[in-house]
Amino acid sequence: MEMKALVIGSINDTGLIGLAQRLEKPEIHYLLIGSGDAAQLGKYGVSKVYQLAAPVDETSFAETLVDLINKETYSLVLAPVSKYFKTAIPMAAQKMSAPLLVDVVDIKQVGNAFTVVFNGIGNRAQVTIKVTDKAFLMSPPTRFKPSENPTGTTTETLQPKSVGVIKVVSTEEKPKGGVRIEDAELIVSVGRGFKKQDDLKLAFELAEVLGAEIGCSRPIAADLKWLGEDHWVGLSGHKVRPKLYLAIGISGQPQHLAGMMESKTVVVINNDPNAPFFKNCDYGVVEDLYKFVPALTKRLKEVLKK
Ligand SMILES: Cc1cc2nc3c(=O)[nH]c(=O)nc-3n(C[C@H](O)[C@H](O)[C@H](O)COP(=O)(O)OP(=O)(O)OC[C@H]3O[C@@H](n4cnc5c(N)ncnc54)[C@H](O)[C@@H]3O)c2cc1C
Repeated sequence: MEMKALVIGSINDTGLIGLAQRLEKPEIHYLLIGSGDAAQLGKYGVSKVYQLAAPVDETSFAETLVDLINKETYSLVLAPVSKYFKTAIPMAAQKMSAPLLVDVVDIKQVGNAFTVVFNGIGNRAQVTIKVTDKAFLMSPPTRFKPSENPTGTTTETLQPKSVGVIKVVSTEEKPKGGVRIEDAELIVSVGRGFKKQDDLKLAFELAEVLGAEIGCSRPIAADLKWLGEDHWVGLSGHKVRPKLYLAIGISGQPQHLAGMMESKTVVVINNDPNAPFFKNCDYGVVEDLYKFVPALTKRLKEVLKK
């Protein structure tokens, strides 16, 4: 069955056409953002180009895109990953009640439906799901290379629907802790193994001796709010790659690991020998942090003084 796909991008960012070409005999249209020679897209089998020359805000773009999808009845819309599209594409997907899949690595047509493979589970696995209706896919265009398959192309200028800019309802200053944990070479990171906020001083003392920054798991920053978000490591926090990552009282769930797996040396202190973090560290200490951390700080002070 022939499927209709719309690829969105600039004239220099045509990689996602390569992803659309993986469908069986696809009809590929291109929404060209900005200027450029639309006719040259014909060499990749693009049969129609809609050109949106003037920049529009994300809400207007989403509205314009939804109208175009309804007019052309596309099954698939493929968009690049960028700050702009990270706002505009979910808006369009929500308006169409259609799934949005990000970080896509492959698609395969199965009759009237298709399977989509994307990087998931904190980038630790590839997930395959079946989509039976319309879907929006996002991926870096550089991941794919379109093959040449020349065809005639028609071009149409797309008139953007103007619905006005996003309205700012209120603004709030982000608290500044002055920490750039992404750049830290040494990190002492704390988790829910600490029973109360005041106990974090044990980690602060250790960090001071080492000259390390303080990191933390999500509950410490997001739920308990014992530390600012500047310290939060993980999938939804900061990605760090220090020379030493010392994790204290952190269980080592995949979402935490996703933010620190590129650390050079990982040391884990946890009183539960079955804590998952022990499977992902270079050195593991099964001990009560309240006993071990003060002893370690004391010993390091002695050693580093020499
Ligand atoms: C969509 C999503 C995104 C997420 N993003 C993130 C993220 O970016 N970062 C993140 O960290 N999490 C994230 N999470 C949450 C994650 O799944 C875990 O819930 C979280 O990492 C657990 O934090 P923790 O290890 O501090 O707490 P817990 O899982 O409660 O672990 C506490 C650990 O401390 C140990 N402990 C207890 N007492 C002591 C003691 N006296 N001495 C030594 N050890 C002790 C325990 O054995 C346990 O292993 C996310 C979850 C979801 C669903």
